[in-house]
Amino acid sequence: MQRFTTGTEAALSLRPDAPLYCFRPKVLIEDAQRFMRQFPGETAYAVKTNGEPMVLETLVKAGVKTFDVASPAEFAAVRAASKDAEMLYMHPVKAQSDIRLALETYGIRVMSLDHEDEIAKVLRIVRALDLDPADFTIFVRLQTKGHAAYELSKKFGAAPGHAVELVQRLDRIGFKVGLCFHVGSQIAESESYERALASADWVRSRAGVSLAGLDVGGGFPAEYGHDPNRKKPDIPTIDELLERLDLNLTEWGFKTLPLVAEPGRAIVARSFSLVVRVLLRKGRRLYINDGIWASLSDSWTGKITLPARFIPDPARKSRNGDPENVVPFKVCGATCDSVDILSRPFWLPETVDTGDWIEIGHIGAYSLSLRTRFNGFYPDDFVEVTTAFGDEGAPEGFASLETMAS
Ligand SMILES: *Cc1c(COP(=O)(O)O)cnc(C)c1O
Repeated sequence: MQRFTTGTEAALSLRPDAPLYCFRPKVLIEDAQRFMRQFPGETAYAVKTNGEPMVLETLVKAGVKTFDVASPAEFAAVRAASKDAEMLYMHPVKAQSDIRLALETYGIRVMSLDHEDEIAKVLRIVRALDLDPADFTIFVRLQTKGHAAYELSKKFGAAPGHAVELVQRLDRIGFKVGLCFHVGSQIAESESYERALASADWVRSRAGVSLAGLDVGGGFPAEYGHDPNRKKPDIPTIDELLERLDLNLTEWGFKTLPLVAEPGRAIVARSFSLVVRVLLRKGRRLYINDGIWASLSDSWTGKITLPARFIPDPARKSRNGDPENVVPFKVCGATCDSVDILSRPFWLPETVDTGDWIEIGHIGAYSLSLRTRFNGFYPDDFVEVTTAFGDEGAPEGFASLETMAS
């Protein structure tokens, strides 16, 4: 991989016409190690956030030994990055053939579920392979309610009363039993974890089974951009959140159990930026070479503010407007699809024009992993960059949280 000091340097020397991902391994190691220092248990990186081999290999170098996986492709990706990393198969609803593969080929011994029929599926394979249930830890996934930017608890999780029954049933079979939850993604307040812990405590006391672990899931917030003309939104930093979680774990008496967290976004967001090119400017519209079907899936970019740096093409000799004046542009994606328009404007210097580049920062989570091949566009070019996005100076622009009047 070619290496550059900054994304700007990469853009100006390569003059990329296709989207270019700038990977920052040092930043990834820093963020992973910071999380591991602050969380009082095992850190299991959630592979779905960004499962690129370069990410998994760098995390292994950083000392991450455990990975949260959900599919055969993720088992294989983790195994390719590390011969001995432990995998936690935390998808509550699994295909029978995938369970067999997990147990037989990958030696996976930790899983989650939220229903008795899933217990039956797992048990069938355990029996068929003549394995001892006591070698397994099965986490019962609890329903939670939070105020995450992305609410994920609607889909999975057993209600507390149901969870008690599942815990007891698993215990009777001879499995080791834990409790887990996942409060959503980009959590904005520590009460989400507090409520989930209260619920876990209720289930623990009713079930009367001694637990083998507690897995607090992911959801820890990543650092993104904000509109410099407004007050910074009042959400806790990840440090504050982890400090609070630690206190709550102590208060609820969970510190005596083996603990697991499954961070994704908080670990990988800052480690990538994306350099896109303006293919055409039409008034206040920019047509760029990426979009909602590639790295800028609107289901997530529409909910956060991404920092953006303007990289003017030095080959353009004349420009209109004042470079100090930052204005909103509607951003149209690369495909011919008319829904491929970002719901939020990019705020950029009004001088931006055809041929210029925009470097979008902190885009390592749920961007590359959500790329599609729609319309034949599939960004897949990478360079390594040694300076953190924020260390190159304050970005000029940002992708706003406000909808644009069109
Ligand atoms: C997606 C997911 C994660 C990672 O969530 P982040 O918000 O990226 O930290 C962790 N655990 C489970 C079960 C998930 O589905």
